[in-house]
Amino acid sequence: MKSVKQLLCVCLAAVLLTVGLPLWAASVPSESCGCGVTPRIYVDGFGSEIYYNQGTPEQTNVPTVVTDDLARTILLRTLPQLTAAAATRDWDRAADGLGLIFDSLLGHLRCDKEGNSVGPITARPTLDPAQNHTENPNYTFRYDWRLDPLTAAEQLHDFIGEVRAATGHENINLTAVSEGGIVALSYLALYQTESLESLALMISAHGGLTMVGELFNRNLALDAQRVTDYLAQTDDGGLLTALLDVLQQSGLMQPVLSLAVDIISHCKDRLFDNTLLPLLGQMPAIWAFVPPEYYDDARASMFGGKKGYDVLLEKIDRYHDLVGSRSTQLLRDAAASGLKIGVIACYGMAAIPAIPGADYQSDSLIDTARSSGGATVARHYQTLPESNSPYRSPDGIIDAATCALPDQTWFVRGNSHDAGPMMAWRDWLFAADEPVTIRSDPRFPQYFLRTADGVVPMAPGTPPETLRTEDLCGALQNFCGAVLRSVGIAK
Ligand SMILES: [Zn+2]
Repeated sequence: MKSVKQLLCVCLAAVLLTVGLPLWAASVPSESCGCGVTPRIYVDGFGSEIYYNQGTPEQTNVPTVVTDDLARTILLRTLPQLTAAAATRDWDRAADGLGLIFDSLLGHLRCDKEGNSVGPITARPTLDPAQNHTENPNYTFRYDWRLDPLTAAEQLHDFIGEVRAATGHENINLTAVSEGGIVALSYLALYQTESLESLALMISAHGGLTMVGELFNRNLALDAQRVTDYLAQTDDGGLLTALLDVLQQSGLMQPVLSLAVDIISHCKDRLFDNTLLPLLGQMPAIWAFVPPEYYDDARASMFGGKKGYDVLLEKIDRYHDLVGSRSTQLLRDAAASGLKIGVIACYGMAAIPAIPGADYQSDSLIDTARSSGGATVARHYQTLPESNSPYRSPDGIIDAATCALPDQTWFVRGNSHDAGPMMAWRDWLFAADEPVTIRSDPRFPQYFLRTADGVVPMAPGTPPETLRTEDLCGALQNFCGAVLRSVGIAK
């Protein structure tokens, strides 16, 4: 009897030592640090660094799109298919021809039917043991932005544990940008605010993108005015932009675009089933970009009647149930727990004009209403009806009262999908002793304007943006200038 007891004791001790100690070591900083500099972890978004042969001398970055063979593919493979399709009215050939372009651009990123990478691509976060956090407190969390965000959140949890152990700090400051916001909300869903001192959600994708919701419901549209607006904000004086502008001003743009949409509508289903579903629909993370109210229809539209997708569907449903459909509650719970949290979204940019109703305010990629966690936003080039809402923007375009966190959500007009110009706001949030709001500091009011001098508070009475007006004469002048520049006659 005594020996059994001894054996149990030895076993228990062994279990504690082998299981308990490493857990304890991982969860508690080895030595606590009082330097006052909280370590920061940065979670980037779609298209951030992922690798072939990570951690070996042969490590290389995986490009987000491969354009090397694009011209060749279009000239030698797509155009012949399209020509044949036009001659024979065989729209399947047109779909296959267009599919070759997407394959050429994105084929290397393909995931299998279970939502795992086909190619040998990884993105493990690595910690430099020599990094002195007091001098450089910035750590980057690498993850595979194609895969399940909840898995990325588990990896983030491990990485935060490593940073805590390495620095001796109990908590960290988290910056989440674009798709990083999806990972951050997944973290909140799984671990609440564990080990977080602050969270800055910047141009976040956690509310999804209307564009992806519409596309995954197979809705495409090209409106001449939307295309022109979008091109105008990327106007680089280039030949293509100038040509499209002439088309718009002469009234020819809409007929050309309508023809394109008509052709695409004939081959849309085959293009989605044979190309876009295998290329994009099999990436679990892309499903986190589908806004919750589009999710059920999009899932049916893409997977209806198809077999072999059980594992992938389980992944994307889990995200939808735990995170996507609960984002407002996750943000409110995080703020209520006392976390220093701030959301910053941008507006004043035309959205990608590929879907019906693309005249919503955006940062040129993500809808402002979604990245802000639910603001009421006027359509592009319009203002909201008059109101006395204390959360109304000086230009009358936004009312933040409907946001998940109206007092902790900021806006920048005229800034595109780029968090870089807003890092002063992020640093202010991190440096504060307690949670901040839009009324904490006159230097950081709710609304900002992006100007040539950077991001500045928006003055009361700032007028809304106005629709760009041009005429055919001006467009032709621009076009001639672009032609002369392109052949080297003018500068
Ligand atoms: Zn320290």
